[in-house]
Amino acid sequence: MDEQNDNVEQTLVLIKPDGLQRSLTGNILALLSHPDNIIVATKLVKVNRALAEEHYSHLKQKPFFEDLIKFLLGEWHTNRVLAIIYEGPDIIKRIRATGGATNPEEAKPDTIRGKYGRIHSKTGVYENVIHCSANNEDAEREIKLWFEPDEVVNIRFPVEYIVEERTVMKWKK
Ligand code: UDP
Ligand code: MG
Repeated sequence: MDEQNDNVEQTLVLIKPDGLQRSLTGNILALLSHPDNIIVATKLVKVNRALAEEHYSHLKQKPFFEDLIKFLLGEWHTNRVLAIIYEGPDIIKRIRATGGATNPEEAKPDTIRGKYGRIHSKTGVYENVIHCSANNEDAEREIKLWFEPDEVVNIRFPVEYIVEERTVMKWKK
């Protein structure tokens, strides 16, 4: 960045099941790589229906909703999604630009979706290899949906501490 920019934000990126199955992770991360794009959290997620439906809840009324959920659940590829939080100046807008248009046929060829996206021939769903938050409101909602605060290296949203008793899985000694 040439100028000083204080608008530091966080955004959620998902490498969708098609990106993982087609072994595009490295290519996608390379296109997202820049000194101003700092990874502050990452994890591989086995997506369940509740998470997929919550993530795309704003599209519930769309005719392609059920097929979109199947896509995110990995019915056509693999039941894995790589979730990443990037932090940096104007990162929401910048990563959306690198990601490209929602429809891979309309995405510019130098964008991630333009390079690697395709359209599922049976359903018409856009297999567009990544998700990236569209605006501040979405970014906050999506970051809180996919990550717990203690999974994030740099916490930007308010947290609270709750004492709870629960069973957790540990490596057997
Ligand atoms: N999608 C689709 N057909 C459409 C619109 C959206 O298959 O006509 C899928 C596509 O995978 C997209 C996701 O639904 O990434 C979420 O849609 P949204 O409008 O939020 O686009 P995005 O923010 O991902 O660019
Ligand atoms: Mg969206």
